[in-house]
Amino acid sequence: MRRRLALPAFILLFAAMTGCTPTDSPDADVDSTEADLTIDPALLERAQDLTQRFILVDGHIDVPYRMTEYEEDITQATEGGDFDYPRAKAGGLNAPFMSIFIPADRQEIEGSAKILADSLIDMVEGFVERAPEKYAIATSVDDVRRQKEEGLISLPMGMENGAPIETLDDLRHFYDRGIRYITLTHGRDNRICDSSYDDTRTWKGLSPFGEQVVDEMNRLGIIVDISHLSDSTIFQVLRRSKAPVFASHSSARHFTPGWERNMSDELIKAMAERDGVIMINFGSSFLGGEYQQEGRALSQRIDQYQTEHNLDPRSAEGALYRERQRKLNPVGTFRDVADHIDHVVALVGVDHVGLGSDYDGVTALPAGLEDVSTYPNLVAELLKRGYSDEDIGKILGGNALRVWSGVERVAQELQQGM
Ligand SMILES: [Zn+2]
Repeated sequence: MRRRLALPAFILLFAAMTGCTPTDSPDADVDSTEADLTIDPALLERAQDLTQRFILVDGHIDVPYRMTEYEEDITQATEGGDFDYPRAKAGGLNAPFMSIFIPADRQEIEGSAKILADSLIDMVEGFVERAPEKYAIATSVDDVRRQKEEGLISLPMGMENGAPIETLDDLRHFYDRGIRYITLTHGRDNRICDSSYDDTRTWKGLSPFGEQVVDEMNRLGIIVDISHLSDSTIFQVLRRSKAPVFASHSSARHFTPGWERNMSDELIKAMAERDGVIMINFGSSFLGGEYQQEGRALSQRIDQYQTEHNLDPRSAEGALYRERQRKLNPVGTFRDVADHIDHVVALVGVDHVGLGSDYDGVTALPAGLEDVSTYPNLVAELLKRGYSDEDIGKILGGNALRVWSGVERVAQELQQGM
């Protein structure tokens, strides 16, 4: 089913605030079909209360990557991007995993991926140094719980792409620097395993070195993140890992048939049997096959406009143009994310689903989930669909923290030779 949105009231308001009307923009995607985005105010109020009360973990936010494009001070309200402190507070966010993202081209030059990873970790430490009254690094489940009580937003770190891991000693180095999950690869096969985006299938799953990496991650207490991996890699990881794993930012393939980047029902079941969690990606292209073309078209229109108007995407002007276009052109709605959650719950129960928005990492986002202030909209929808407060606590963060605790426990046992 194809659902196109007319511009809802909040976007017209946004346009008025930014001094730009949708008709100013040749690219605004106006359609006559009105999507109903109304939320019952009483449910929204309850949802806001729940997001503030429960620990909210987001498996994947690309703030460091965004800062390499165009820097803003995320300890204050920012004009661009999906994440900043005031919006995170408003949305009830407690523990956004900061993505230490290593593009695949860094794999080619020895040492280069590691240098980039260290510099991105420095950057996250810099956020905390700039505002220690707002942010703190979290390297354990206890840190996340304690820092919530202290009113701090925890910044745990996950490395997206294991390319910096050239030897097992590198795992120790990054553990010591605070990395608590590693997405084994990204857009291409690397020395650890095969990627869902790469047809080469270099290893037919995990490489022999990759098997050692999984073992050592278990021993140290680093979560194995199965997002971005090929299906055979995921099955091999599930067989190999002694600790539970999660998918930090993947959605259900049921809605995007044939797209390996999302998880099949079979994989979701196999992962749940090992006590894992799939953390649903909010990016429109993850939510429905029909949205992928729309999301791509939006990116192309933005690129084309920037080229034609000599707008450097890395300049403030270029970045803000992109932000405006994204917000004028939502693809899908927050209800689509609720559909993914429903699907996983129907398959394997409410203990195996969480949130991994991919904020600051995707171009097209659904209406009602524009940035980190908007989680309550999704929670209101879940309440409407009959989820209990307890279920919502699990989805918001309880499930993700259970996996992390499981990984900590297994590490302790392995280190004690149990
Ligand atoms: Zn990703």
